[in-house]
Amino acid sequence: MLRTTFAIATATVLSTTAFAQDDGISWKATEVGTGLYMLEGEGGFPGGNLGLMSGSDGNVLIDNGLATTTATTVATIERMTEGPVNFVVNTHAHGDHTGSNHAFTAAGATVVAHNNLRQALIEDETFDRSGLPELTFDESVTFHLNGHTSYIFFIPMAHTSGDAAIHFTEANVIHAGDVFFNKVFPFIDIDGGGSVAGFIAGQQKLLSMANADTKIIPGHGPLASLNDLQTAVDMLIDARSRINTLVDAGRSIDAILAENPLSVYNSWNWDFITTETMTRTIHRELTAE
Ligand SMILES: [Zn+2]
Repeated sequence: MLRTTFAIATATVLSTTAFAQDDGISWKATEVGTGLYMLEGEGGFPGGNLGLMSGSDGNVLIDNGLATTTATTVATIERMTEGPVNFVVNTHAHGDHTGSNHAFTAAGATVVAHNNLRQALIEDETFDRSGLPELTFDESVTFHLNGHTSYIFFIPMAHTSGDAAIHFTEANVIHAGDVFFNKVFPFIDIDGGGSVAGFIAGQQKLLSMANADTKIIPGHGPLASLNDLQTAVDMLIDARSRINTLVDAGRSIDAILAENPLSVYNSWNWDFITTETMTRTIHRELTAE
């Protein structure tokens, strides 16, 4: 099923390489282990970070960006690999991580994901059916390819209902998906089955698997360390505590927003999630019936 004889084209890729494309969006590749890469979008809104494991046993792509950037993504992966992408892993259902599934399945890849992710994509009428996961799991599934043990495991009720993270155990690399936004406020999709409590628990699980040398690929933001992840979970726990204090004191959401208890975290703002958005998300969960 997997090709075993092709050359490791990626051996010649520099540790950091930008692949420019016509639409102004490009993926910057950083080698984080033998045949293991993090790809970060540059130029415009690029979608979540990708992971790529490439070698003589085959190629595994983790997430694949927005549908609007499919051509760039496919061209980049073609340049970095020899032979097809055999498997695509989706860390969650959002379109900036699954938007090119259809292009890789058309080229023969099998999409692997949590059961809840497949269900979320089935319920999303805009999603191209040809990109649905064909291999799903409840708790975990493990690849044994290219000398890497790639442990893919479910993180319940965190960013969405169907999050997975990947631990490349020998390489000491973790791909966290969107259970980790590095240096910016996280998006926690409560309507999509996520929760603040599950997000914190998921980050704590990732922390328990990491050490000072672990390279952590976040769903969004630059390559991270244990310290960065610790900082993110500390922020979220403190943010929840600050809002909880005000809820317990009987403050309304408007009064809490006026007080802005997360102003100490202004540097975590970005265009999509601000102190106000973060406050509303946490408040909603704390006051849910
Ligand atoms: Zn997401």
